[in-house]
Amino acid sequence: MLPRADTAAEFFSPDYASARGRFRAAALRAGAALDTLPLAARGPRDEALTIDIAWLGARQPRRVLLHLSGVHGVEAFAGSAAQLALLAAPPPLPADGALVLLHVLNPYGMAWLRRANEHNVDLNRNFHVDNGIWTGAPPLYKRLDALLNPASPPSRDAFALRLAAAGWRHGVQAVRQAIAHGQHRYPRGLFYGGAELQPGPRLFIDWLQKRLGGAEALFAIDMHTGLGPHGKDTLIREPGVGSASVETLQAALDRPLSGGNAAPAAYTVRGSLGAALPGLLPQTRMEFVLQEIGTWPALRVISALRDENRWHHYGDGGLDHPSKRRLLEALCPAADDWREAAVMHGHGLVYRAACWTFGEKSA
Ligand SMILES: [Zn+2]
Repeated sequence: MLPRADTAAEFFSPDYASARGRFRAAALRAGAALDTLPLAARGPRDEALTIDIAWLGARQPRRVLLHLSGVHGVEAFAGSAAQLALLAAPPPLPADGALVLLHVLNPYGMAWLRRANEHNVDLNRNFHVDNGIWTGAPPLYKRLDALLNPASPPSRDAFALRLAAAGWRHGVQAVRQAIAHGQHRYPRGLFYGGAELQPGPRLFIDWLQKRLGGAEALFAIDMHTGLGPHGKDTLIREPGVGSASVETLQAALDRPLSGGNAAPAAYTVRGSLGAALPGLLPQTRMEFVLQEIGTWPALRVISALRDENRWHHYGDGGLDHPSKRRLLEALCPAADDWREAAVMHGHGLVYRAACWTFGEKSA
């Protein structure tokens, strides 16, 4: 059963603490088992921060559909809302199947309205589980560092104009790729991938290998916001991840895919969760799709990220500040129609992935 579009915005929560409470209550109402992975970091009202996992269906499943929210902290509002909609109306599960909802991999970022975690790490650049590359930055990022990451509180400093000049000089796509690729050189900078595996990813990996190591097939969906047309969803495949052909998967999901051996994605990244999954569960047949719900133009999003990052490192970092409100709007628009679309896209993709995972094709 699909949620009603005209009331779907009600699944959005105003803050991390209420989202967590609603998720846990809805999981219990739905008869799900709950796992809780506690983090040492605290929220703005000194509240506990946990990664919560709701488990519906078989406890030793052969086929699993895993839905992740909040890898990027503040982007979790949409993923959390979609997960509440899923707990209210989950897809039918076979006797050997499970639907697993991981609520907010980066709760610090959601609670503090940041994209990065408690160590300023972008968790989707932190999953270097095999190759362990923890140094360096793209050469062009080094040239852009002073523009992207000024060591001062937010101010009007003609960022848009200067970024446009950099694009004119180096090429817009080259600049975009250099910024978003991930870097390990500037610990207070944007898109910092960290110097080691972070607590949240470590807890997640331990849990994943312990609880899902025996599954034959896993379909993972990682829900994000920001990239792409406003209120539309874009599905991105990781290069080298997934056994089905692009055409087969596109037909099953009723959507075009970008990335991987499909059409090129907006940019490529290093150290993403999706790219790490096959190595973490080598026995498991894997599909992975990153779902982006588009918000605002990239310049607005990067400006908001930049201002909030300056406020965090060089202001007092408190929530009652325009840079926090601007970042929230940049990655979680307040308008009901956007929120309704986000829930419907999130919920709808899980239903289509459930048909694929639990249907005849993969049996
Ligand atoms: Zn994201």
